[in-house]
Amino acid sequence: MKKIAIVFLLGITLYGCGSTKALITADKAPILVDIDLVNVTDDKVMVKVDPGAFASEMVSFYIPKTVPGTYSTDNYGKYIEGFKALDYDGKELTVSKSDDNTWNISSGTKLDKISYWVNDTYDSEGEQEEAVFSPSGTNILAGENFVLNLHGFVGYFKGLKEIPYTVQIDKPAGLSATTSLPKKMMEDAVSTKDIFSAGRYFEVIDNPIMYAKPNSETFQINDISVTLSVYSPNGTYTAASLKDRMEKMMGAQKAFLGDIDGTKQYSILLYLSQMGKTDANGFGALEHHTSTVVVLPEVMPKDRLEQAMVDVVSHEFFHIVTPLNVHSKEVQYFDFNDPKMSQHLWMYEGTTEYFANLFQIQQGLIDDAEFYKRIMGKIDNAKGYNDAMSFTEMSKNVLQEPYKTEYANVYEKGALINMALDITLRELSNGEKGVLWLMKELSNKYGDQTPFEDEKLIDEIVAMTYPEVRSFFDTHVLGDTPIDYNAYFAKVGLVSGTVEQSCGRFFLDQEVPFIDADPSNDNAIFVRKGIALSSFLTDLGAQGGDIIKNINGTPITMEGIGPIIQQSFVWPAEEKITMVVQRGDEEITLNGTAGTPVVMVEKVTTVEGLTDAQTKLREAWMKG
Ligand SMILES: [Zn+2]
Repeated sequence: MKKIAIVFLLGITLYGCGSTKALITADKAPILVDIDLVNVTDDKVMVKVDPGAFASEMVSFYIPKTVPGTYSTDNYGKYIEGFKALDYDGKELTVSKSDDNTWNISSGTKLDKISYWVNDTYDSEGEQEEAVFSPSGTNILAGENFVLNLHGFVGYFKGLKEIPYTVQIDKPAGLSATTSLPKKMMEDAVSTKDIFSAGRYFEVIDNPIMYAKPNSETFQINDISVTLSVYSPNGTYTAASLKDRMEKMMGAQKAFLGDIDGTKQYSILLYLSQMGKTDANGFGALEHHTSTVVVLPEVMPKDRLEQAMVDVVSHEFFHIVTPLNVHSKEVQYFDFNDPKMSQHLWMYEGTTEYFANLFQIQQGLIDDAEFYKRIMGKIDNAKGYNDAMSFTEMSKNVLQEPYKTEYANVYEKGALINMALDITLRELSNGEKGVLWLMKELSNKYGDQTPFEDEKLIDEIVAMTYPEVRSFFDTHVLGDTPIDYNAYFAKVGLVSGTVEQSCGRFFLDQEVPFIDADPSNDNAIFVRKGIALSSFLTDLGAQGGDIIKNINGTPITMEGIGPIIQQSFVWPAEEKITMVVQRGDEEITLNGTAGTPVVMVEKVTTVEGLTDAQTKLREAWMKG
């Protein structure tokens, strides 16, 4: 999974059942699922699930509480209503619920099938505090779009998770399905149903389906056939327009990975959101073995959308290495309704995120300066989390507080742990072995179907590498001692520190503004919190969180800010500036001059007097 924060201002202002199965017992008969996307009622979809015959009276049916890759409790059962269990005469059986996600049917031997209505998550995401993350959520928009993250639609019977499923979908006119779920061939060409098959429940939910007006492209990366399907409600983007950058990026990923065996087919399902209260609001993506669902705002300009796609899709694709190929028993035998978490998020998410940056420098997609900037960005972002918390302890307990709020540090410190480990391994192996080598070894040893013991992974890594690696893990990953990144930078002739840099009055550079728009507050323009601001803003007395009401008499709105930003580039230093801000309930008038703006930034730079050893190690690390 990868969650990303989007700075909205940039995007807008600056750039410019049928048959009886009574004779076949439930543990032998495939489970038949019917999802009706044609007769959508009140934004709800009818689902019928038809198992074989049960021998026991007590039958439980579950909709997942948690799904792999999300590391959160989402209770998808909350989106189910009108649950009915029917006997072979079509009469309703008594059903009781034991929690949000569990339905118990007491006359199991009489059970023919169940039916229920499904609500989507996208409709309510804007209103909920702990909304389902959009890439694992569901969308029901009759005749337009369906995001079928199937864990939101299809459940499983107790003890029958390993039974094959047949999923038939009543196909909405004009929309076509993109998925990596194997499709059964139809006898007639003009069928009104799409029929898919899955070997077991996990395969059902590992293969999301998106229905949208046809807008997809397929390209070949070595032996992998990649399909990119795009839902763009306003027709802003086509798959054809985004294909080239994806093709180049995934080609570079394959070159970076070398012979790590993955999939032969990969689907990228891109949902572009119009945002607001009734559309998707969680931006980023969720990984699956052979596909990913990506959600981003449609309003993003092309260059930024493409860069976000590069960063997010590359992250998801690298999940093929871990956890998909290298994972513990907790992941292999994932319990959707009572999950046990693994302690190795430093690897599942950290290594993945690290690779998503490392491959870009190794394959020449970004330059050294951009790579250092990304590392610095992660060091900065990691400061927002508890640096003195054991990463393995956080991981093991990630569904509960106080660990839950530390989760997103897997993308920051998680990646930095891998950077430090990578430099360590390169140093000890005379430049030859790094984290990618380690992951290839683990992938060869385990793979898709063979899990490792959660408690033994570190011992194994140490046995495969060097004794020094044990103290690294004991101190910084199992232990709670923060990593001194400069100690690792020194090995490769780099150093991080604060330097003064000239900047714009409202922007650090093209990518980082000091102000943003708040879509939840009529796009009010505010000063960003938690970042270093330009001396122009701080000298005026502005603070993070201030809403800018007007500047020199011009009311500041989404429309009004653009011209002011343009003017600000040519304000002479002595220009008098009056800015009215709202801080809490107070309106405050700030007076000052335009000045010569600078900002203190933390940067990674090359040390003076670089040695050959440092140069060599840096080359091995950054050039592969
Ligand atoms: Zn991830």
